[in-house]
Amino acid sequence: MNFMSEFPFDPLDMAPLLLAWYGRKGRDLPWRRNRDPYRIWLSEIMLQQTTVQAVIPYYHKFLADFPSVEALACAPVERVIELWAGLGYYSRARNLHTAAIRVVEDFDGRFPSTLDELKTLPGVGRSTAGAILSIAFDRKAPILDGNVRRVLCRLFALQEPPRSASAEKRLWFWAEALTSEERPHDYAQAIMDLGATVCTPKRPDCDCCPLESLCQARRQGLEQALPLKGQRKEIPTKKQVALVIECHGAFLVRRRPLSGMLSGLWEFPSRLLSAEQAPGQVASELLKEGGETTPLTEVGRVSHAYSHFRVEITVMYATVDAVGLVSESEDRWLTLAELSLLALHGAHKKIVPLLASP
Ligand code: SF4
Repeated sequence: MNFMSEFPFDPLDMAPLLLAWYGRKGRDLPWRRNRDPYRIWLSEIMLQQTTVQAVIPYYHKFLADFPSVEALACAPVERVIELWAGLGYYSRARNLHTAAIRVVEDFDGRFPSTLDELKTLPGVGRSTAGAILSIAFDRKAPILDGNVRRVLCRLFALQEPPRSASAEKRLWFWAEALTSEERPHDYAQAIMDLGATVCTPKRPDCDCCPLESLCQARRQGLEQALPLKGQRKEIPTKKQVALVIECHGAFLVRRRPLSGMLSGLWEFPSRLLSAEQAPGQVASELLKEGGETTPLTEVGRVSHAYSHFRVEITVMYATVDAVGLVSESEDRWLTLAELSLLALHGAHKKIVPLLASP
């Protein structure tokens, strides 16, 4: 489909304005210091759903352990997940590992450099492929991440939810038409920077925006109202009991299975509760599977939001005299200091501060 007639300005006018601004205000980010596609891919995957500030320490940690795609492919997936712990959306870590293996096995360790090849890698969609192509290989390829989507919605004053099917077609068309032919590497970074630092979700700084003269949302006073919000889905709340068992200053933790949600991460023994179950009763059952302990006490509650549900966790505590009473061969008994370094998943990480003085 061709949406060229909907352009409220000459598409060739935008890139020069944006690139001149980028020359003055572009961000100096660690993954911009060379054009290694492996590093750019790594940063792009980490940046999905996460901020630059959150990503930077993870990016350095990953590169220290896995300086090349070969190193990442050879690593055990458990190590990859451990290093990812805290960044959330763990399927990204598993996809990263699988994709690294694919690059080594299917592409002889050479990072793919076409859209079709890149899209065969798990976790790489059209926008991420576009970012890799433009930033690493300086090829013209549109990107449409969250920042770019917001900028375009405002620039064109798009009056429909940006995730709708028809909006999606327009946005990709506009993104392609506006991408610079001459400087795709700089253009991709420039438009991402504009979305992240000027055309921000809540308070766009239109007075400092290089695109103000072209922007239809600005012209119509709609910059705060756009993009339109889609209908928010109600997310369910699940209840869980987590059992903290202490033995002479060490706490029992278990690794989750290597498939399924939060795979490979660590947690305290826990169980989801049905509507009729009381946390104390289920915690007692969990304990009975092990052995004799002191009576259970509740030490607090934590809650955690995932993309598709919330979990409210009641934390129950007991002590035991001998580790063999309740643990299984794969379990670990760790001190508080060791727990703070362990790849606990986000919800159970919130339990650790409750244990300083149970
Ligand atoms: Fe965003 Fe304002 Fe710039 Fe328009 S003028 S692109 S709303 S910052």
